[in-house]
Amino acid sequence: SSPGTVDAAALLARREAVFADVQEHYFDDPPVMVRGWREHLVDADGRVYLDTLNNVTSVGHAHPRLVDAVAEQWRLLNTNSRFHYPAVVEFSERLAALLPEPLDTVFLVNSGSEAVDLALRLGQAWSGRRDVLAVREAYHGWTYLSDAVSTSVADNPAALETRPEWVHTVPAPYGHRGASPARYADGAVAEVERLAAGGTPVGAFIAEPIFGNAGGVALPDGYLAAVYAAVRAHGGLAIADEVQVGYGRLGEWFWGFEQQGVVPDIVTVAKAMGSGHPLGAVITTREIAHRYREGGYFFSSAGGSPVSSAVGLAVLDILRDERLQENAREVGGYLKARLEELGQRHPLLAAVHGSGFYLGPEFVRDRATWEPATAETAAICARLRELGVIAQPTGDHQNILKLKPPMCFSRESADAVVAALDRVLTTGW
Ligand code: PMP
Repeated sequence: SSPGTVDAAALLARREAVFADVQEHYFDDPPVMVRGWREHLVDADGRVYLDTLNNVTSVGHAHPRLVDAVAEQWRLLNTNSRFHYPAVVEFSERLAALLPEPLDTVFLVNSGSEAVDLALRLGQAWSGRRDVLAVREAYHGWTYLSDAVSTSVADNPAALETRPEWVHTVPAPYGHRGASPARYADGAVAEVERLAAGGTPVGAFIAEPIFGNAGGVALPDGYLAAVYAAVRAHGGLAIADEVQVGYGRLGEWFWGFEQQGVVPDIVTVAKAMGSGHPLGAVITTREIAHRYREGGYFFSSAGGSPVSSAVGLAVLDILRDERLQENAREVGGYLKARLEELGQRHPLLAAVHGSGFYLGPEFVRDRATWEPATAETAAICARLRELGVIAQPTGDHQNILKLKPPMCFSRESADAVVAALDRVLTTGW
């Protein structure tokens, strides 16, 4: 539709009439988005916004090279992945090559939820056990298994009390909020030992290697190494959920697990790898995948289809040719430094978590107690929108911004975000 022709309120009423109320949207009175270009969104009134939120569109909105690759493949062939065609082989090889040994076997699916679901099944098939250990306040998806290990109250207030009995959790390892960082690893290892001693050893441990759902909070040093070792000692597997933080966005590392100096047994990927096209993957070892063959089933009609594979290949080409991981490191590092500078002038902005283009400015009322500034963060997002910046809160206290823009985000855009936030923090929200 051309600018100015959409009645946003009427469209919202129609959306709410046809959607279930569990299907949320950003903002109470959302702008109607009709176009995207690089890290910009354009609404139906022709207003342009900076998109700081979209880690799904990793290479930027409406990337011409991606559009052309998809259009060309659609014209040639699209079908399911039991047919034999080059793109799925090439893409799977390139994906496997991005991972360290012995992770060499690829399953292609359509989403992060599916990837996590399959990863947990691989773990169950491997260990012959159902018990899973997960980190509290995390989100891993909405399918039965991925939802079972998701305990973020921001997504489901009853999450913790309603998990199946085979899901065990450890506290979110917030190294910055008082408790000694090492205590989290000790506590998680103790929980692994307690479950083993009680006759329910965990078959799999799942965690984001950098806590994306909490705004890119780094895990305490050595945390994953300690928990992985304990889980493996009892025959379980380590799953790294890289759906949010992986694929180059962290700048310094292509995968989040590199920051922790570990190699998982299973890696789940989605979002960035399709830049908005439904595409996800599980990468594991030949042995683990083979064990699943004995009792499990796998077929995904559109997972790894010719079009999905062409998307996956084009995204990898664009990441490489446009040096987007380097851009995440350089511009993301610059943005983080500038936000930290803001924090020196504005007491509300207590910390800036994360790395590269996965940053989490955290707003608190009191830097000594870390009392979350939840209402303030919502108001800040509303004001930022008025100033042309799309940003949203994350975490269980909804007091951290999830700054995870398309990876083509420029230095000028970083300056614009900082200027807008400075203005909001200075003039009130
Ligand atoms: N894992 C993590 C860490 C996620 O953040 C998400 C989605 N936000 C998922 C899994 C699920 O991915 P999807 O929405 O593609 O199903």
